[in-house]
Amino acid sequence: MKYNLKQMRKDGKSEFSRVERIIKSAVSDNTLLSSLGFEAVGQNEKTSVIKQITAECKRYVIGALYDDFDGIIYSFDLKEDKLIINPCIYNFMLKYKAELEKLNYYAWARFMEQINDDNVLIRVIDKLELATPKREDLSIYREILRKEFEENTCFYCGKKLGKSVRVHVDHFIPWSFIKDDKIWNFVLSCERCNERKNNKVPNSDLLIKIEKRNNIIQVIDNSIVQNDFEVYSPDLLSRMWKYAKISGMKEWSYK
Ligand SMILES: [Zn+2]
Repeated sequence: MKYNLKQMRKDGKSEFSRVERIIKSAVSDNTLLSSLGFEAVGQNEKTSVIKQITAECKRYVIGALYDDFDGIIYSFDLKEDKLIINPCIYNFMLKYKAELEKLNYYAWARFMEQINDDNVLIRVIDKLELATPKREDLSIYREILRKEFEENTCFYCGKKLGKSVRVHVDHFIPWSFIKDDKIWNFVLSCERCNERKNNKVPNSDLLIKIEKRNNIIQVIDNSIVQNDFEVYSPDLLSRMWKYAKISGMKEWSYK
């Protein structure tokens, strides 16, 4: 919508795909939507679009893709709204996450080039990358962590985070690997540690430390915390940690 990129071939039966039509109709009801990122759209409008697209995918995509891969990648239950991903495939996707992401962009850009005019294709990769999730405003997490769990110290080096020290909300496993903002992956950090850690994974001692911290956090009565922990399991971070390292991320220790 934002960049007027098309996803149907000119010689096809229809000008727009079903998903495009759903989005276009939502925009015709509220023209503001065309300039907003999807995350900024109001909850009711978001739910309505998701519901319609889910119905189309159940009808035309889930079963077709299942057949294309001979049922190897996932199985599904349409009544229960469930996809069950083959654990081997899931591990494969985690291990080659960075490579799969690049291949995906490459194939997507190539497809777009075949069906769009040259004038909308300028910096097409930038445009497609914008379609991936964005970092949210993390200040709310800073307050939760600060008040309740970390006694206002840097998670890594233990330095007191007074008013004069800039406090960072740091993604324990870097954001470039987990493109999601969840409190179980957040810690408070001083500027020095935050800068030095950069795009690296903390060492195994720090992994044990954050797992213990998460055990304490997850029972706290706070709706943001409860919401974020819905998808958490005790071995989630250690699995992510392992795969972040396999994918080539360097290990870091604050010493
Ligand atoms: Zn520090």
